[in-house]
Amino acid sequence: MSKITLGIIGGGQLGSMLCMAAKRLNVKTVVISDDVDAPAKNFADKFVFSSYSDNENIKEFLSQVDRITFEFENIPFKILSYLNKVKPVNPKPQINKLIQDRYLEKNFINSNNIRTTAYVKILKKVDIENNRKFLPGILKTRKFGYDGKGQYKINTLNELNKLKISFDRKFILEKKVKLKKEISVIITRFSKNEYEIYEPIENLHREQILRYSFIPAKINEDLQLKSQNWAKKIVEKLNYIGTLCVEYFIDEKNELLVNEIAPRVHNSGHLTINAYNISQFENHLRAVCELEKIKLKKICNAKMINIIGNEINKYREKKYNKKEFFFDYLKKKVKSKRKMGHLTIIES
Ligand code: ADP
Ligand code: MG
Repeated sequence: MSKITLGIIGGGQLGSMLCMAAKRLNVKTVVISDDVDAPAKNFADKFVFSSYSDNENIKEFLSQVDRITFEFENIPFKILSYLNKVKPVNPKPQINKLIQDRYLEKNFINSNNIRTTAYVKILKKVDIENNRKFLPGILKTRKFGYDGKGQYKINTLNELNKLKISFDRKFILEKKVKLKKEISVIITRFSKNEYEIYEPIENLHREQILRYSFIPAKINEDLQLKSQNWAKKIVEKLNYIGTLCVEYFIDEKNELLVNEIAPRVHNSGHLTINAYNISQFENHLRAVCELEKIKLKKICNAKMINIIGNEINKYREKKYNKKEFFFDYLKKKVKSKRKMGHLTIIES
């Protein structure tokens, strides 16, 4: 068994689930978060409450860990690359820098002959007026968006005039896709170009927030293979180590388009905890800590429900049967549109 101490940047539910998986592998965890009430505090062996730019705390964190990973992508490149000079950070800072910017991310994907939605970079309002062909569209901040935050739906120029958008941030404008389905593919790449890949997961969103994920995705074999092949190509091109998720759109013509990449474990993969022999979290740890790669085996079909806002109260009181797995993220504050927990239901 390993005697590695892994530093995890970020203390949300993804961090918590990484810590839970680490316990099974005998990997010690030190979580650093700028949220004093970070959920992962309850699951980490050690918790450091600090701003990510506090030099003293960062040095202290560095001295306590052997390797470093992260559970969210909005970490300044400067900090990740400083850390990486002292202890190995995976995925590599350069990869995170590319993917955390929606414009650079989409350029990278297209440069590898993989399709995305049509998009254009936007600096000022007039850039939208000059790019009408992207309407109806969605204006997205290039950086720091999640769960639909930092996004504006713009159907017409008339609508644009009514929106109060501050252009002190950079944006991209994406053409709205007539969605037939959304799916995601989770892959873990290890050193020596070895990987394990999960089957495509079908995802349903409401108000741009993921509500349900399930396997098997109801898609044809072509889309199944293509979505997995593109995910393999992406991790290879990035020389990626760890778990990564590719979010896809399938449009009304059954065309596959990449929506975005997450250089980390992903919400749609929570069901891998119960549906596979090795979860996306455990595989991530095995890859970044250079532990043994174990052949992935599916155990059963499954469905996951995200529990949002005060829905959590009802789920906390419910009784569960053997096929239902309730995860409470133990967040102190209930907020609307905030992911508070999830329930996985397995079919067996
Ligand atoms: P986030 O980083 O917040 O997850 P996404 O770009 O994945 O942002 O958008 C969240 C959701 O909004 C998507 O999963 C999809 O349901 C919807 N959406 C985003 N972009 C488009 C688009 N171009 N066309 C249609 N729906 C979209
Ligand atoms: Mg998304």
